[in-house]
Amino acid sequence: MAGSRKSGHGKTGSQAPLFGDAYERASRMLPILGEQKDIHYYATTAKNVLNGPEVTGMGFWSINPYVGCAFGCAYCYARYAHRYVMERAASDDRMETGLSAHYESMPPWLAFERNIFVKHNAPELLARTLRHGSDKHLGLLRGEAILIGSATDPYQPAERRFRVTRRILEVLADHPGLKIRIITKSPLVTRDIDLLSRIGRHSDLNIHISLITLRRDLARKLEPRSPTPEARVRALGRLREAGIDAGINCMPVLPGITDNPSDLDALVKRVAEAGATYVGACVLRLQSAARERYLPFIAQEFPHLEARYRNTYARSYQAGDRYRAGLAAFFAETCRKYKVDGWARETMEDREPGEKEESPVWETREEGETREGNKTGEEALDERLAPPEQLTLRLEGSR
Ligand code: SF4
Repeated sequence: MAGSRKSGHGKTGSQAPLFGDAYERASRMLPILGEQKDIHYYATTAKNVLNGPEVTGMGFWSINPYVGCAFGCAYCYARYAHRYVMERAASDDRMETGLSAHYESMPPWLAFERNIFVKHNAPELLARTLRHGSDKHLGLLRGEAILIGSATDPYQPAERRFRVTRRILEVLADHPGLKIRIITKSPLVTRDIDLLSRIGRHSDLNIHISLITLRRDLARKLEPRSPTPEARVRALGRLREAGIDAGINCMPVLPGITDNPSDLDALVKRVAEAGATYVGACVLRLQSAARERYLPFIAQEFPHLEARYRNTYARSYQAGDRYRAGLAAFFAETCRKYKVDGWARETMEDREPGEKEESPVWETREEGETREGNKTGEEALDERLAPPEQLTLRLEGSR
């Protein structure tokens, strides 16, 4: 639980505030934009909306119109940024009563899904940043990609109401020659087909639809508030019918849960039929913010896998080399079969430029859990996998 995290905020000057403390404090509050069932939306004024490669640590620029994401995927790695925003709002004494109560009582992983910050000024800020002749704009024209949705989904439910992503696209539509990528799980992206078509005529545009399983029941468990797999496949089809380049991110592949070869085969077949221009895959990486949510989730929902996950990810944020190599070989073969471009990240050599390895911080393993005989957990997992040429991706007895 969040515990007590009240800030030490205080006045620095000796002069009494003109309108009194209550007024001064009220004027600092993050405005509530609205509520939707149990989700609360707050306006936040971004100082910068286009984060460059030097900030992201990755080889592209990123835009995230929202902080927090109502889709609530158990494996989501983006929760850390939300925590930072909450902590900063608390230390600046900018939380109204409801947000403050959530901050005090809600675990950070849940606050990420229930308190969404809307960067309402992002489109205007982007328009200023991209004005012709600025250094940033020149860099983008040299071919550096802009990724919309690198951290949170730009078409999550908030977008239906606040339309920040759409207004960002309107700005980008006025700037030819860009390389733009969008990642989403939502069919709401098809609302913007008019704009996307316009952008696609003079910029390099690609939409990545995230889809890790076709099984509706499983998706509901793993990604509780995300659109159904069928809705995502339909969205893919509509984008392709409109002539927009769109493919599938099958990421993350969850060992023992979504790695059944026949399920993955059916997924590749289905999205190839819907016109996907590519299928990309990557095995789950468990960095610190994702571990805090995902491992307890596994213990609760897939208790038979708990020890295996603890073992596998005890010493690294990645699954073992043989497992990743097996998955890459499987995807290459399956994509060939259904005549769709495919790739899978297999090793750290495949990582995006600048991507850093994070030291494992999860060190709560108990005696005997990380070793089977003299083997580490990761080695033990690798041995359960058949070699790639006789591939059985699913962990033995995992379901
Ligand atoms: S849709 Fe993406 S950003 Fe949103 S919770 Fe799921 S993984 Fe996280």
